[in-house]
Amino acid sequence: MNRQAASMEALVSLAKRRGFIFQGSDIYGGLAGTFDYGPLGVALRENLKKIWKDVSVNRRDDMYEIDASLIMHSKVWEASGHTETFTDPLVSDKETGERYRLDHVLEALDIDPVGMTLDQMWDALVASGAKSPNGNEYAYPMTFNLLFPVSMGASETSAALAYLRGETAQGIFVNFKNIIDAYHPKLPFGMAQIGKAFRNEIAPREFVFRSREFEQMEVEYFIRPENWEAAFADWQEAMRTYAQEVGIEMKALHEKEIEKEDRAHYSKRTVDFEFEFPAGTKELWGLAYRTDYDLSRHSEYSKVDLSYFDDATGERFVPHVIEPSLGLDRTMFAVLASAYDEDELGGDTRVVLHLNPKVAPVKMMVSPLLKNKPDLVAKAKEVRAALKKIHPAIAWDDNGNIGKRYRRQDEIGTPWCVTIDFDTLEDGTMTIRERDTGEQVRVSLDEVVERLKAAV
Ligand code: ATP
Repeated sequence: MNRQAASMEALVSLAKRRGFIFQGSDIYGGLAGTFDYGPLGVALRENLKKIWKDVSVNRRDDMYEIDASLIMHSKVWEASGHTETFTDPLVSDKETGERYRLDHVLEALDIDPVGMTLDQMWDALVASGAKSPNGNEYAYPMTFNLLFPVSMGASETSAALAYLRGETAQGIFVNFKNIIDAYHPKLPFGMAQIGKAFRNEIAPREFVFRSREFEQMEVEYFIRPENWEAAFADWQEAMRTYAQEVGIEMKALHEKEIEKEDRAHYSKRTVDFEFEFPAGTKELWGLAYRTDYDLSRHSEYSKVDLSYFDDATGERFVPHVIEPSLGLDRTMFAVLASAYDEDELGGDTRVVLHLNPKVAPVKMMVSPLLKNKPDLVAKAKEVRAALKKIHPAIAWDDNGNIGKRYRRQDEIGTPWCVTIDFDTLEDGTMTIRERDTGEQVRVSLDEVVERLKAAV
């Protein structure tokens, strides 16, 4: 990848122009921290989810996938500790009222906020003499809870407080007993979930990196406590495999051991996978050993026994858990940044996404050499229909000259373009052009099908 080329502006503009990612509620001026996905965005995300599911669920024999409700009981979040501690320190501009994350303001001033109380952070900010980005004084800070409350029920008086889930993980913990009762799995086993999560982030920013509605791909892997190290290493390796298979640039991916004072209090070990995003090196995914904290807390708050009985040893205990937690939106961002390039091909500068064919939203483009020759058009349509039986993402383009058609596909990462010409009518062969090299060869339909199959 050409890191210089993958600037924030270039990625945002390509994503919008070609229909990957739009600002949420765009025609009303946009709603901060929300995004809408166009056809290419949807297809790209589906592919990223499919590969995650392959790596984390389908290639294993010990995984149970669930899909829990987005709206969850308020007790869930009391038990998990979110209502009490899922907060960020907020500081605002005294004049404009604009809000900022106080810890991020301090970090930008080279002050490490880790372990500081709200008052200590405030004292450090005052001592630094820093002003807001608008040049004004800051107001005294407060803590701000990130959970989105919703009121459920028909009338305001009887409405019950519930929350949009702040992470998919809790949907897994509250279904632990359901899976045990329905399937009687033996330890170790895991539960997996892909789905939306909501956080009322104080300052959503950096494109899809920090949004208020996002998607997570999470596993809770239940183990006997003495086996945690092996399970941790196993999932760490699975995360590396996933990064490789979706085409994240491995030398821009860094595994960072999180120090005790920076970890959640219940976590015995946390490794953050950081990526060199256009706006800096930041957390892409997290891997944590959460001990038995979640199941124990839910047992305590729900009064439902969430322990596990081991038939072989006759022991009853609360399993411990390893949690690989991946954000789909940050994954998509890292994949696009890794794939983006501006290079020269045949004397022209082009924008190209070097996406892994399995990740690419469009697998192939088929076009007739000339759009005013009915025989060519009919043959090209026939070829496209045959390819669509293998995978639906086969584009059609008969506009402008062939070179322009190729450029349009390069920009969205389509691995191959197939052109039907007069020779195709004679001998059935066609030209296939490869995205990264621009190389063109004549092949049979069977050979085109082979390539397509490898991209599915
Ligand atoms: P950060 O420190 O950046 O706020 P976090 O440590 O709170 O992230 P986790 O609670 O560990 O994040 O969430 C797991 C994963 O979910 C993250 O690694 C990230 O990929 C994703 N994620 C978390 N918050 C957001 C967000 N606001 N927007 C997009 N993705 C997010």
